[in-house]
Amino acid sequence: MEEFLLGDLVQMRKKHPCGSDQWTVIRVGADIKIRCSGCSRIVMLDRADFVKRMKKVIAHSEEPIRGTNETDF
Ligand SMILES: [Zn+2]
Repeated sequence: MEEFLLGDLVQMRKKHPCGSDQWTVIRVGADIKIRCSGCSRIVMLDRADFVKRMKKVIAHSEEPIRGTNETDF
């Protein structure tokens, strides 16, 4: 499994109905929240589900957002 952090741009295996397959990770914890790059829709998945559906990390965030990443503390 590829490492992902808050703020990373990730590619999902399945395209969103809007046509985009790129999402930004906006919350990391027991659940993962991602925001679609195409339509800005926010989707919440549990971690196992997210890992299954994620294809790869496209770009790591240069400045990870601190404070809401429950797993890093
Ligand atoms: Zn979308």
